[in-house]
Amino acid sequence: MKYEFHWLSNIPENAKRSAQEAIREGQACGQSPISFCHDGAVVVTLRSSDALQKRFAGEMNCSCGERRGTIKGKCDGSSLTFEASTR
Ligand SMILES: [Zn+2]
Repeated sequence: MKYEFHWLSNIPENAKRSAQEAIREGQACGQSPISFCHDGAVVVTLRSSDALQKRFAGEMNCSCGERRGTIKGKCDGSSLTFEASTR
């Protein structure tokens, strides 16, 4: 699975990398209930969810544009939670 990450907040590069790595891993190891309806790059839009930039939240969209789930976690990559969108 390919991922395109878009950050709407300016957080340190290493925090972005940790968060992105944790998201990839969570998806790859089956920790996440989020699945995608089409092949192609998954678009992940993320933003810092607190003033201290310790946490982030975001959503995952299929390559067709449909929102498939939401994610939140800490910028060090821990405490990640995935939630599949209900339709
Ligand atoms: Zn799709």
